[in-house]
Amino acid sequence: MGNDPYGSGDEESAPEGGGSGKTLIATIDPDAFECIICMEPLSPPIFQCTNGHIACSSCCFLMNNRCHSCLNPIGKIRCLAIEKLIESMKVGCIYAHHGCRELVRYSQITAHQSKCIYAPYSCSVSGCSFSGPSIRFSDHFTSVHGACKMQFRYEAWFTVLLATDEQFCILEGEDMVFLLQNKMKFLGNMVYVTYIGPASSEEHCSYQIEIKKGRRRLTMESVPRSIDGIDEIPQDFLLIPVETYEEDGRLTFELSFRHVA
Ligand SMILES: [Zn+2]
Ligand SMILES: [Zn+2]
Ligand SMILES: [Zn+2]
Ligand SMILES: [Zn+2]
Repeated sequence: MGNDPYGSGDEESAPEGGGSGKTLIATIDPDAFECIICMEPLSPPIFQCTNGHIACSSCCFLMNNRCHSCLNPIGKIRCLAIEKLIESMKVGCIYAHHGCRELVRYSQITAHQSKCIYAPYSCSVSGCSFSGPSIRFSDHFTSVHGACKMQFRYEAWFTVLLATDEQFCILEGEDMVFLLQNKMKFLGNMVYVTYIGPASSEEHCSYQIEIKKGRRRLTMESVPRSIDGIDEIPQDFLLIPVETYEEDGRLTFELSFRHVA
């Protein structure tokens, strides 16, 4: 906790208006603004008991409006001074050392960090120890794991051609990066798409794979799961049968992505 960068106030995260005389740059122990019961960053409404102990509103409710420290009633008197301080406070992101320059209201910092594009992920390839923000995964997969790279537009079909042993292809949409995974199996190739980003954003889009070969038509539709914590075996995949491969031995299929409202 001691090296947590909340409110570190270094030069790079100096709030706008610095030097105008209206902004203070301070170093704050992050524990001071956490609810002592749930340890979450405090956000208004904040309540205090008659002895001045403070708690967040959900903890007051869970504690039946009894103070955690002294058992006096809590939940009626707001602690407006701390609320005002917290509303005015902007802090740096915990992923600042990965490149995030955002200054976020203190009460929004947990929400920001849960979808920060600089949050690091571990590479899912066995034996690879790479860990870094999602924006570095494209380069990592192309340079280290030999992935091909394609750009695509949402709501439009595009054709993918892969060698049977070509395991990865980076797919760059306008706002999200995906990883197409291709695994050789006994009866064909298992193909599915994962999403390089936080699990909280994975419901924002879906993808479809389609193979047409003569009178055969195979399709699947699924949500690309975040690479964060995905198991070896994905929930959904399409097994592309050997008989549908191109004459040169490669596999080919159509892909499309769409945003989910
Ligand atoms: Zn709490
Ligand atoms: Zn109390
Ligand atoms: Zn961030
Ligand atoms: Zn890797």
